Amino acid sequence: MNEARILGVRVDCLDMNETLERLEHFVDEGGLHLVATVNPEFVMRAQDDAEFARVLATAQLCLADGSGVVWAARRQGCMLRGPVAGVDLVEPIAAMCARRGFRLFLLGARPGVADELAASLGAAHPGLAVAAHAGGPDPSHDAETLGLIREHRADALLVAYGAPAQELWIDRLRDRLPVAVAMGVGGAFDYLTGRVPRAPTWMRRAGVEWLHRLVRQPWRVRRMAVLPVYAIKVLSAPK
Ligand code: UDP
Repeated sequence: MNEARILGVRVDCLDMNETLERLEHFVDEGGLHLVATVNPEFVMRAQDDAEFARVLATAQLCLADGSGVVWAARRQGCMLRGPVAGVDLVEPIAAMCARRGFRLFLLGARPGVADELAASLGAAHPGLAVAAHAGGPDPSHDAETLGLIREHRADALLVAYGAPAQELWIDRLRDRLPVAVAMGVGGAFDYLTGRVPRAPTWMRRAGVEWLHRLVRQPWRVRRMAVLPVYAIKVLSAPK
């Protein structure tokens, strides 16, 4: 089983190491590859947002970001050991870039956040070529952002504008992005710079990271209200 289809959304059955191998191959191969980190909110949005569903369908990789997607994929026979979340990929991607001499660009989050993360990744991986910019998903930022990405000669681009803005942004600029990997990572930069605390390991292992998010960021309740609907729809969909 190479992929699952969760309420119509494709999820690739890849664990962390396989994902990193695939990303490395994408850079070697060249040409733009869109990588999406699919969580239940993505799946639910894709149900009634045709544009988002279309963009997800064009992604070269749809990773299982979160236990809700891993659970649904396993029901279809996907041999996933656990989630492959964007936030967990940033550090290993930086390590891979340093090892292979690939150039990394961090885009998004509030001003200063991506710069801070770039500095800490650069310190942890001597020789890593990493640049950062806050930018924004609005087209008014495009010229400056594309100029900086080009100037850095980036191979891999991590976009932290939140979903669906980041995936739509990558799709909109698909023909002008001079990178091999463009991946949406949501709030990853905020977590990795400690601006938003992550759930403790035991909660992540138990698949209840969403509960921690809800307690720390109660305004998410409206976005998370789709989770029970997601679970019911997955249980009632044919396997
Ligand atoms: N963000 C941004 N520009 C915008 C809107 C959002 O850079 O116009 C950033 C925001 O600072 C945060 C991320 O996008 O770092 C969204 O994080 P969130 O946790 O909401 O994303 P999720 O992981 O839930 O998709």
